[in-house]
Amino acid sequence: MSRLDAKELAALAISIKDWSAALGFQQTGITDTDLRLAGERLEKSVAEGRLGDMDYMWKHGSKRFQPEELVPGTVRIISVRMDYLPPQDDAETVRRDPASAFISRYALGRDYHKLMRKRLQQLAVRIREEIGEFGYRAFVDSAPVLEKPLAVKAGLGWMGKHTNIINRHAGSWFFLGELYTDLPLPLDNPVSTHCGSCNACIDICPTRAIVAPYQLDARRCISYLTIELSGPIPEPLRPLMGNHIYGCDDCMMACPWNRFAAPTPETDFLPRQGLDQASLLELFSWDESAFLKRTEGSPIRRIGHERWQRNIAVALGNSRPQPEVISALRRTRPRASALVKEHIDWALNQLGKQKNAKGQRG
Ligand code: SF4
Repeated sequence: MSRLDAKELAALAISIKDWSAALGFQQTGITDTDLRLAGERLEKSVAEGRLGDMDYMWKHGSKRFQPEELVPGTVRIISVRMDYLPPQDDAETVRRDPASAFISRYALGRDYHKLMRKRLQQLAVRIREEIGEFGYRAFVDSAPVLEKPLAVKAGLGWMGKHTNIINRHAGSWFFLGELYTDLPLPLDNPVSTHCGSCNACIDICPTRAIVAPYQLDARRCISYLTIELSGPIPEPLRPLMGNHIYGCDDCMMACPWNRFAAPTPETDFLPRQGLDQASLLELFSWDESAFLKRTEGSPIRRIGHERWQRNIAVALGNSRPQPEVISALRRTRPRASALVKEHIDWALNQLGKQKNAKGQRG
């Protein structure tokens, strides 16, 4: 039982939002722990096999949709969002250039997990200064937390047809974080959805991963294929991946609500190592030690050098049959792992086909 009365809790909720804004979160909402609907949807996705290899999505069982099981005593979740879009972003030009490497905007800068968790921790300390000890635990992009449904319930935005959260005034380029707490704070209301008859994200998805509005088949999603999938990328999907080597923002770039997205004020999220405009050949030339050094502190590091090379080999196969591309693939092949070798062979074959077709056209 909270020692605060309803009036004090209402005042505390207002203060929490102010402190949260001062800590750099663009928005804060509060919701309860009832995730039955989201849990049912997750179970359906698992049953239909739409989550691919992402076994972490269900291995936590009911803890994912029963927050009080994950952190005993939890009655509310404080959900926060933080913008990450770099200023002067030229993603569209990069996406259209087959010689450039497209990396998802969220991964261009320093890993967000640490920064967000630290800020959430600071928010908890500020609350404690005000009311004394209370129960809490901070999460950022954590497997047992259904962060998107929580954000929707907390009023941070609505679930778009691409299954990302959209905010009317800020688009969808933001990270989410949560503070589970035992404080029975007043609840915020969800907002209405505003996708209407728009289908831009569904139409643009290169691999047709959005199989129906609000339904993503992760096994076809380029984010999943380049980041989560550890084995070979299914061959029919490779030509559709273009120059995406880590994640994919196509659905978000197509979304009209991202006209309202604001650039991030966080210097940690600014592009590092020139990753916002790097060429495929430059990134393919990184050996394992260069990869580890240059991705230090970056979320990209977690996929490891092998998947990095696998992804770039596919993108090179989708580029132009320039002599320097073909020789880079041939040069790398003898030292590559079996997985990468197979993707290099595919790329060389694709480029060969392009060359032949060009030769035949004269
Ligand atoms: S692109 Fe259109 S349908 Fe897709 S999330 Fe944005 S508004 Fe909704």
